[in-house]
Amino acid sequence: MTEAMPAFSLLHPETLDDALLALSTTPESRALAGGTDLIVNMRRGLVEAPKLVSLARVPELKRFETTENGLVLGAGVMLADIADSTLVREYYPALAEAAETVAGHTHRQVATLGGNLCQDTRCLYYNQSHWWRKSNDFCLKYRGEICHVAPRGKRCRAAYCGDLAPALMVHDAELTLAGPEGTRQLKLAEFFNEDGAQANRLKPQEIIVSVLLRAPRGKSAYGKIRQRGAIDFPLAGVAVLADCRKQQTTFTIALTGTNSCPILLNDLPPLGGPAEADGYFDALSKTVQKSVSPQRTTTIAAHYRRLSVAALAARLARQLWEEGQP
Ligand SMILES: Cc1cc2nc3c(=O)[nH]c(=O)nc-3n(C[C@H](O)[C@H](O)[C@H](O)COP(=O)(O)OP(=O)(O)OC[C@H]3O[C@@H](n4cnc5c(N)ncnc54)[C@H](O)[C@@H]3O)c2cc1C
Ligand code: SF4
Repeated sequence: MTEAMPAFSLLHPETLDDALLALSTTPESRALAGGTDLIVNMRRGLVEAPKLVSLARVPELKRFETTENGLVLGAGVMLADIADSTLVREYYPALAEAAETVAGHTHRQVATLGGNLCQDTRCLYYNQSHWWRKSNDFCLKYRGEICHVAPRGKRCRAAYCGDLAPALMVHDAELTLAGPEGTRQLKLAEFFNEDGAQANRLKPQEIIVSVLLRAPRGKSAYGKIRQRGAIDFPLAGVAVLADCRKQQTTFTIALTGTNSCPILLNDLPPLGGPAEADGYFDALSKTVQKSVSPQRTTTIAAHYRRLSVAALAARLARQLWEEGQP
């Protein structure tokens, strides 16, 4: 059964002020970037947006430049440009690796950084056609009364599956947001909510303008577990930053795909020296297992996702540590 695309009007503002004005004059309007998440969800009847405000022609969102504060990436920068950037590859490798794993090549040439961060959460009972969801009485997140994943709960447990957020979080990224109340800065780690129905803290009609990455404190890497080797969301994704000093190595880890928001582990104990390594990475794996709470939101068992995200985190951390040894 085919689903017809609902009617909508499309505006193409050419300045940030005009984009914000267009969004604020119609409360039910939505920002449109590459459309690879939003248009799919509109077609499935998951989003009603009679007016779309395209951000594609807003120059402020296209910035990709080094400033005295660090690297500024506009929210409208394409994932392909991030993946291909020699600068990102050298200084923020986890980010380039994460961007490279999103969907397929042509997709990454329209999908943007801002859209990736603000993508909707995902669930087996939600990312379905209208008729499928209707025949299952919909669900708590949209139009229904109960959550099919956790029927006794009152909160949607859909999983946040963005690949870029953890890679940016280990590098302590900061957002610039703009909306009707003005401009503000927010650490990316504070941008998300553990709520599958409202996974971020954007205020109404607010948008991400850019992301700031300060000078890197170490070497990073990103890894992802997915059902297919390409064009697939992460069942679990892991970004690791290793700050290798003479005496000890400090790790920062961020996880995606397991909860309704990405999880940042930035208070891990340091690893002292080679004699401690095996025990350290075993303990790290257990810490990651305890930090995540995957639900029955995919066809892959939650317990498998818990074990595999922990194994992947320990493997990436060990790999970075070994590379940093004299
Ligand atoms: C087949 C397929 C495979 C995919 N695989 C992956 C994957 O492996 N990993 C992954 O992370 N994602 C994946 N995606 C999801 C999606 O394509 C990407 O997350 C993409 O980066 C979204 O960017 P976009 O520019 O297309 O966003 P859009 O679809 O245009 O927007 C997505 C959401 O973000 C909002 N938004 C966009 N820009 C801004 C802004 N500047 N400020 C505030 N809100 C904004 C929109 O209003 C909308 O709510 C996949 C999608 C498909 C269809
Ligand atoms: S977790 Fe529950 S409420 Fe959320 S989308 Fe899935 S079934 Fe719906």
